Amino acid sequence: WLLKAIVDTREYNLEQESELRFEVEFSSKASVKLVSGTAEIFGTELATGVTYHFFGRKIAVFTWHGCCLELTGQCSVEYTANETPMSSYLNLHLALEQLRENAAQQGEQGPRVLVLGPHDVGKTSLCKILLSYALRQGRRPLHVSLDCSEGSITMPGTMTATSISHIIDVEEGFGSTATTAASMGSTTMPLAYYYGYQNPSENLQLYKLLTSKLAQGVKARSAIDDETRLGGQIIDTTGLIDNVGYDIIQHAIEQFSVNVVVVLGHERLYSDMTRILRDKPEISVVKVAKSGGVVERDQQFRTQLQRSKIHEYFYGTSKCELSPYSTLTNFTDVSIWRVGESSLAPTSALPIGMDRQLSETQLVKIDNADILLHSILAVLNADETDNEANALESNVAGFIYVSDVDDAKQKLTILSPAPGRLLKRHLLMGSFKWIES
Ligand code: ADP
Repeated sequence: WLLKAIVDTREYNLEQESELRFEVEFSSKASVKLVSGTAEIFGTELATGVTYHFFGRKIAVFTWHGCCLELTGQCSVEYTANETPMSSYLNLHLALEQLRENAAQQGEQGPRVLVLGPHDVGKTSLCKILLSYALRQGRRPLHVSLDCSEGSITMPGTMTATSISHIIDVEEGFGSTATTAASMGSTTMPLAYYYGYQNPSENLQLYKLLTSKLAQGVKARSAIDDETRLGGQIIDTTGLIDNVGYDIIQHAIEQFSVNVVVVLGHERLYSDMTRILRDKPEISVVKVAKSGGVVERDQQFRTQLQRSKIHEYFYGTSKCELSPYSTLTNFTDVSIWRVGESSLAPTSALPIGMDRQLSETQLVKIDNADILLHSILAVLNADETDNEANALESNVAGFIYVSDVDDAKQKLTILSPAPGRLLKRHLLMGSFKWIES
């Protein structure tokens, strides 16, 4: 096997400003080691001689000055490229850094940057690069994710704001959901709101309401913390560029007082944004090119990604193992909510006199334990005395999973990453189901 391991290892000598791109399936593993020179993965520098492991990822190892890499394991795709948009991304970072300098001198806020583009153009990767570069420069930017499909920080269906104060983990991206699970209830927990669906159009009113709540939280944090205020925000978005997409983009621009709009790889979107924002000279609209390395992810990959994020949340990763607790709870001891009708229901299906907008952001109590089977529930940071309206607008303390329902006895079997701490009374159900495998 030693011979196989040696044969299995490929050496790559990269010239300056080129990258090694590789894809690893969820079912296989690959690892990369920097032998000499300098290299980074989405902005985070690799340490020499350290082996980094990957599965279910699509990766680019980029070098500014040239390097030698060793790649081991099974990749479904692997090649090198010397045409990358990295120098334009670096220029963008330098321009943002200039805004931070100016803000520091004038006692103002750092840049609020909204990253736009269709699905799979490299928005999240660009956000990582911009955040890593800012961090390497001693800044403490906030990473805001309005992309509810992925769950890059926590569960899919969640919108989050996280202070980036440590280097972004190259193996786990923004950190595994396990790290978030382990931080539940502590101050390092990101600010999170549970939307509960994959697509903003499933409940547009709720999506906008939670975007506003998140923006308020970010503003409150920036008001009391100088480093956060100066670091500014890098805001990742959903990739929707239809009518609903334009609506939520404009809403996010207002709510976060965005002053830099970055459009990735889409001419029409760029021209529409310059037109829509032409009366607002305080907002700069810039376009940057998409990397040729960005890979389209099909629904199957996305579903697998969501599943692995959920699994990670409860069981951890090899770096941060968790042993979740299973407990039996009386259905009557907790209040479990769902958010109103989805906007897909015809207006005629609503009770007479009920306004659609209201129903879309109104909590409906779940009175039938059956439908909870295999659901992910958000534990809301509202306490027992809070009413429904407060509960809906409260952020998330953590998540639990309903692994079994005994309808006759009205009991739920609940899986939780942290015992005790999470059992508050208000729980919110979204559309995500998961079956432990
Ligand atoms: P978006 O946020 O626009 O949907 P992502 O940044 O998530 O796009 O990129 C889509 C996929 O392509 C991700 O799996 C990401 O890791 C991968 N990717 C991005 N840039 C590169 C690159 N230069 N080389 C290889 N893979 C890349």
